[in-house]
Amino acid sequence: MKFLKSLLRAGTSSVFAISAFTISAFASDTTIIHAGQVLTHPGKAPLQKQTITVVDGKIVSVTAGYAKQNNTDATYIDLKNSFVLPGLIDSHVHLSMEWNPNIRLQAVTKRSGDIAFDAMINGQKTLMAGFTSVQDVGGPEEVFALRDAINAGKIDGPRIRASGRSVSPTGGHGDTHGYISKVLDVFRSPTICDGADDCRRATRAAIKAGADIVKITATGGVLSNTAAGTGQQFFQDELEAIVQSAAKMGRQVTAHAHGKAGIESALKAGVKSIQHGTYLDKATVRLFKKYDASLVPTVLAGMTVVDWAENKDWLPPASKAKALKVGPQMLNMLRIAHANGVTIAFGTDSGVSAHGDNAREFGYMVEAGMSEMEAIKAATITAAERMEMGDIVGAIAAGKFADIIAVNGNPLDDITELYDVDFVMKNGKVYKNED
Ligand SMILES: [Zn+2]
Repeated sequence: MKFLKSLLRAGTSSVFAISAFTISAFASDTTIIHAGQVLTHPGKAPLQKQTITVVDGKIVSVTAGYAKQNNTDATYIDLKNSFVLPGLIDSHVHLSMEWNPNIRLQAVTKRSGDIAFDAMINGQKTLMAGFTSVQDVGGPEEVFALRDAINAGKIDGPRIRASGRSVSPTGGHGDTHGYISKVLDVFRSPTICDGADDCRRATRAAIKAGADIVKITATGGVLSNTAAGTGQQFFQDELEAIVQSAAKMGRQVTAHAHGKAGIESALKAGVKSIQHGTYLDKATVRLFKKYDASLVPTVLAGMTVVDWAENKDWLPPASKAKALKVGPQMLNMLRIAHANGVTIAFGTDSGVSAHGDNAREFGYMVEAGMSEMEAIKAATITAAERMEMGDIVGAIAAGKFADIIAVNGNPLDDITELYDVDFVMKNGKVYKNED
């Protein structure tokens, strides 16, 4: 086996004309991890002194005790002094961009290739921070190219579930604002729609472009350059048309929503998750439960835009005004949602905040009353299930992809341990191992 592996490494220079495909049919790659403490299923107590065996990118077993190092074909990894947990999952990122003072100019200066390379780098920062899967909700088609290139093994990055461009009403949060009309014509997206029939067309256009999930903007939002508030924007019949036409093509819908009426209309229409949820109250909570929908709180984004509004001269006046209203609400929103039993999936809106800082959201989750265990479960098992990836990631268990991270200290005692992840494995490949 060792010989075959060295042949593979030698590549085309080898005198043996055996293709990689021929060899991979019988040469397996085995990695054995000795884990001092391991949270295999967040929500259940961590286990001590376990051996995790990974073959060809997937976990095949988790067994008690440290297995002897007698498998000469295996690579052994010593995490005996570490706390090991499943790869983290962020349900709300925008890998194609990162907010900065020049972003409005960059919209008309960056080429498709520039966007794609930036998205690749942002994805790699995210992976190195311990986030092995993400949901990219709202971005150009370069994100689909990134998703597909990562899945094909051409480049490194997190596993991506992507929506592409948001479905939004004309002039709504997902439309483009604040340029001369000639420039706005360039930005015209097939996912902008008005009226139920047109919204069916727009939803189908999003799926045709490559959407795994349909993202809609049910209400206004902070960073769109328009003084149109953060209340409901789509009508009920438009929301229902979007959800139903997405369902006919096997897609779920997730809704950006701040205002209470917009959140509630979206839930009644059948969206599976709400992003932000700023002005929810106890009546809204009842609808989350009735429709089995989840909340992605993105408190980090709220804190970030308040900081800009107060301390930096980055935001156009319309956005600044909205930031100062919405941001301070978000921590209390999460407190209400959690205290009343809403299912919460971890999400940051990274791209507003810097990529790679995703774990900062954990600090706000604990500040809002979640236990460390609840916060970690939201970023693993719950996020995986709610992103329709529950069978492949979210836990350290036989049959799942080997997405495994580790930190030095115990994050159940101090959640900020996750701000600095020391070991990252995705699909069995080690990306980071700092002793
Ligand atoms: Zn967002």
